[in-house]
Amino acid sequence: MTANATDSDDVVADCLFCKIVAGAIPSDQVYADDAVFAFRDIAPQAPVHVLVVPRRHVSGLDGLREDPDLAGLLLTAAANVARLEGVHGTGYRVAVNHGRHGAQSVGHVHLHVLGGRQLQGGLG
Ligand code: AMP
Repeated sequence: MTANATDSDDVVADCLFCKIVAGAIPSDQVYADDAVFAFRDIAPQAPVHVLVVPRRHVSGLDGLREDPDLAGLLLTAAANVARLEGVHGTGYRVAVNHGRHGAQSVGHVHLHVLGGRQLQGGLG
């Protein structure tokens, strides 16, 4: 996250995921609609590991409080991704890391969709 990265900016110039959404950095796209873009994680933690991000820049989950419609679209897109990846029947996990203690490493809110193997029960 940078000093000029506010939740009101649609695009933040030095944001990795803004660049991916814009196509300036290549990604393995899985799903896209008017509000949401989804692509495979570069360091997958499971056979299915897809990141679901809003097209517009929102730095973290906290910023979605101002846009509950977008929050709903992201969650729905995660369920669509699970279907597209064929893991809706066996099950999957949707996770969001927020801030320092949440171990968020990219300052553009993203949902991890993980599946394709038995995941462990712990979250810590
Ligand atoms: P988090 O730690 O929750 O912020 O998740 C950030 C995720 O972004 C990590 O799982 C990274 O592997 C992933 N990631 C970083 N750079 C890229 C990239 N260029 N393309 C796809 N995924 C990426």
